[in-house]
Amino acid sequence: MTLFDKFGRQITDLRISVTDRCNFRCVYCRSADPENYREHDEILSWKELERLARIFVGLGIRKVRITGGEPLVREGVEKFIAYLAGLGVHDLSMTTNGHLLAERCQTLLADGLHRINISLDSLDSIRFEKITRTRSYDAVMRGIDAAQSTRFAPVKVNAVLVRGFNEDEVEAFAAFARERGLIMRFIEFMPLDADRHWSRELMVPAAEVYERIHAQWPLVQIPHEKSETARKYRFADGAPGEIGLIAPVTQAFCGHCSRIRLTADGKLRTCLFSKDDHDLKILLRAGSPDEEIVEYVRGVVNDKEKGHRINEPGFVPPSRTMVFIGG
Ligand code: SAM
Repeated sequence: MTLFDKFGRQITDLRISVTDRCNFRCVYCRSADPENYREHDEILSWKELERLARIFVGLGIRKVRITGGEPLVREGVEKFIAYLAGLGVHDLSMTTNGHLLAERCQTLLADGLHRINISLDSLDSIRFEKITRTRSYDAVMRGIDAAQSTRFAPVKVNAVLVRGFNEDEVEAFAAFARERGLIMRFIEFMPLDADRHWSRELMVPAAEVYERIHAQWPLVQIPHEKSETARKYRFADGAPGEIGLIAPVTQAFCGHCSRIRLTADGKLRTCLFSKDDHDLKILLRAGSPDEEIVEYVRGVVNDKEKGHRINEPGFVPPSRTMVFIGG
């Protein structure tokens, strides 16, 4: 079985947020005063998540990314990964802030995780502290090193650039990719922050990042799948490492979008910027049979929006911020 929307896009990727809790409070994501978590019983249990995952894989989902909140803070995530691996998910990855990664790397691999993305927004520990509002710089670096020394290498390291905070580190991040042989990805800041500070001026466009790196170390584009979010580049001088540019704001890739998202509280979202989400938890807890859930999912996916409207007049950001969606 396969999932298509009314624009003919096949949906093969699912991001599953396993918790809305996070041990970081990144300025571009959460508020400094974030004690607004859902109650535990509002969050899907592992059994409920497993059931939905099985249904989605039956509907042709081939790529699953586990996210949050911070996925490593929820106990039992390794067992869930093993369950997903057992379902035969082709591409099983996780996005983490890396704080708890160093000691968990080997278990995650053994449980069947294929790939890992680690968020890192500064190479300067003081600045890192300001952005994440934690003192976890050393732990995250240990996490990156640990992952790089396993089959997870080359890991993807994700940085969100915010003007005035870290945009002066573009070249340093590129040098980091070259030195460590990892994939350094720059994500444009999106209007999904809890404090609603986003503005076009604070966002650093991918084209600017490209020009700056290319001026220092010429880049060569690597072919990519149409549905991939990142434009990928290698260094022309043959240095190890890779650069990825993710430009949801300035070069939207909605036309080839193959993604849907399941939030930790059981809502299906067809776009990061959807106005509405669709309640699967209600169906699960009302005892709906699989067939009913499948029909509901098909209907929701069919109506996936054509694209986000960030660049259109009157754009209103979604009420859910990134930490409650799952990036
Ligand atoms: N805690 C994990 C982590 O830090 O990677 C997973 C969840 S986090 C919400 C997923 C990704 O979303 C991170 O790479 C983070 O940098 C990104 N993100 C959060 N808020 C964002 C925003 N307003 N614009 C762009 N990316 C954002």
